[in-house]
Formats: sequence, C-alpha cells, structure tokens
Amino acid sequence: MKIHAVSGYNEVGKNMTALEIDEDVILFDSGLFLPAIVGVEEREKIPTEKGMRALGALPDDIYLEKHNLRNKVRAILVSHAHLDHVGAIPYNAYRYNAEILGSPFTMEFLKTMLQDSNQTIPNKIIPINMNGSYNIRGKSNTYKVEFISMTHSTIQSTVIAVHTPEGIVLYANDYKLDNTPVFGDPPNYRRLKELSKMGVKALIVDCLYAPDDRKTPSEKIAKGLLEDVLFTTDNRKSGIIVSTFSSHIARLKTISEFGRKLNREVVFIGRSLSKYVNAAKNVGQAPFINQIKLATYRKQREKIMKKINANKKDYLVVCTGHQGEPGSVLDRISRNQLPLKVSKDDHIIFSSKTIPSPINQLTKEQLEKRLKKFHVRIFDNVHVSGHGGREDLRDLIKLINPKNVIPSHGDLKKLNAGADLAVEMGYTMNKSVHVLSNGRSISL
Ligand SMILES: [Zn+2]
Repeated sequence: MKIHAVSGYNEVGKNMTALEIDEDVILFDSGLFLPAIVGVEEREKIPTEKGMRALGALPDDIYLEKHNLRNKVRAILVSHAHLDHVGAIPYNAYRYNAEILGSPFTMEFLKTMLQDSNQTIPNKIIPINMNGSYNIRGKSNTYKVEFISMTHSTIQSTVIAVHTPEGIVLYANDYKLDNTPVFGDPPNYRRLKELSKMGVKALIVDCLYAPDDRKTPSEKIAKGLLEDVLFTTDNRKSGIIVSTFSSHIARLKTISEFGRKLNREVVFIGRSLSKYVNAAKNVGQAPFINQIKLATYRKQREKIMKKINANKKDYLVVCTGHQGEPGSVLDRISRNQLPLKVSKDDHIIFSSKTIPSPINQLTKEQLEKRLKKFHVRIFDNVHVSGHGGREDLRDLIKLINPKNVIPSHGDLKKLNAGADLAVEMGYTMNKSVHVLSNGRSISL
C-alpha cells in the first residue's frame, strides 16, 4: 500500500490523505484551510471552486490528477464535522466518482452545508452509524471500513479503520482521549484494542499538540470553567453573551443548561450556529433544542435582538464571532451595527481559544479592542481543547501498537514532535515512523 500526504502536512487545515492499494484509492477527509477564508462564511455569495483554490482554501488534490490517482478514488471517508475536514467536499467531491461516508451527524452537517449555500454534488452521501461498518467495493478488493467512536470537540467524531489485504489502516484525525465527556460516548477503547490485536499496519494520527507535554483535560473541566465564570461573578443585572465554536454541540449543551439555571432565556444567533445545531437536531443529537431559541433568519434575528436589548438581564445570548470573524454576530455587535447593544459591565465570554494564525489573532484583538470601548467585562479562553497532547498521543500509540506511525495535522514542527515521541517509544525514524509533507507519499 501507499499512503499519500495530499494536504494538511505542511499546515493546520485542508486535511486530505489518500490510501492507495492496487487499483483503488480511498480518501480520508477533504477540508478547508480556515485562515484563508476568515469571514468568507458570513458572505451571502460564496466563492466558486476556482475562487477557493485561489485563496488557498482547498486541499492540493490536483496532486491526485498528476499521479493518475483521480479515477481510482472509490470513497471519501470523513472523520468528523469540522470544516478543516469536511468543508472542501462541496467544492471538490464532484471530481471523484466516489461515495462519501461518515457518521450520521457529519453527513447531516454536510447536507446542511450544501443546502445553506445552494450547492449540489453528484456523490452519494452515506451516513454510517457510530461504531458501524460498510463495505467499499473497489476494483481490486472490497474494503471493510469502520467508524469508531472517538472524543473531540464536535459530536460523533470517529477514528476510521480501513481493512485491507495488507492490514488495517487507522486514521485518527482528530482526537482527544476524554473519559468523561459531557455529551456522547467516551472513546471506543475496546474496539481499538481488538483492532490492535488483529494488527494495525499504519496509524495516521493528529499531532497538533504533540509538542505539548500534557494530557488534554476532559470537556467536564470546560464545564467547570464556565460554571465558575457564570455563577461566581455578579452578573445579575448584566447582559451575558457567550461565543464558542458552533460545531461544539457538547459545549452548547453546557451553556444552555447554565443559562436556564441562571433563569435566563437562551438564544442562539448566527448562521454557522444554525447550521450545526440544525444538523444535530436532525439526527437527534441536540437535547437542548427545546430549551433554546434559535434565531436563523434575518427578520427573526432583528426582532429577537430588539427584545433582548430591552431586557438584557433576562437573556443569555450565544453567538458567532469568537475569532473576530468579519460579518459574524459579535463582530457586528462590536461595531454597533445590530439592534443588540453592549454596554458597561455586560459579560462577554469567549468559550474558545484564538486560533494561532496571524489573521485570527489580529481579528480577535481588534474585536476585543472595539468591545472594550463599551466598558464590557471580557472572559477569554474559558475553554479546553479538543486535541490530545503529547501524553495522550503516547497512550493512543501504546493502545493501538501500529507497525507504522504517520504523524499528521500540522506543520513540520508538530509532525516532528509526534515522530520524536514514537522514536522514544521504540519506533525507528524513516522505517516505522514517517514524517511526510504535502505531495509526498510512502510505500509500506
Ligand atoms: Zn477537528
């Protein structure tokens, strides 16, 4: 077999990896490079494929054409519903005569995204139940694929297993090892252990935080952080606005519960929030849906914002804009462009971390500057990550015991950190641990 690092090995984002066996290719993920499209999502008219390629937002999948692999692609397997893993599919999936597979939530989100932007793709979209499997009929073989429960910062995230005649390939992008998740199941360690016993030929693994000596805390810690901010500061007379990742359904559940506990009506405002929450609702994964108001359409939003503004202490607003994205709800509030105004002592809670790219850091900093002019109180970084640290990576490699480790999801520094750890654990560089870069491949 050959594993091709198509994209996402020189940067964080636009993830795509290709597994080639004989006459067949199976793709893992097709994501966007998010720093390239800050604010683009909020535009009414979205760019074309050509426009997105010009922005550098899509995976470098022209590589597959150059290497005569395009017509061999039999399936696109999507690990989870984050845009850096699924977001490029509306733009490039048509190139492949391949079905698209993923968890029910991931596939529902893909459909919601296509609807929202009026895009269509010819590919069949097939939801696979969590811990379920499917047979992909290739030209050379039939490949059983499994979508195994994994914890991350969106629901129904999976580790993908592909059974090939040459052994099992595991794709673990993205993961954290959360044994006490706030919503959804803990990682399916049992199945991973079983696969390990059957023999895993290669593990392609998220090394975003491989340089960080830590175990990433559970989502229950994020719940504690939020509780601390919401229940131990005096906010009785203040407006409360929380912004978090729209895909973080577990976090949204926590925020909704706390809002109710504070005797406030919880209102979600923002386009990407609507997309993710509706997708979760459609697959029965939004238990808070009847306890919140979801303001989707412009008129609806204007009306409810006026109402909130007249009585801010009775509401908890959840909105988009934690990265300061131009056109997001928080961005427009900070520019005084919406009926909802912020004023002295309102609480603005960022249940998020600023993505460490220059554009995000700049937009976020400018957002905070504008907000501070209104003398609001800002609580930043009320958050824990969805990516495992170095010690999680050690546990995962130990559990799976693969023959080969392929670090992914980052630039050389991150991939090298993952490789160093593997070497520390007894792997040999360039023999059983392979650091790839975009456009490189390895034969195993
Ligand atoms: Zn992710």
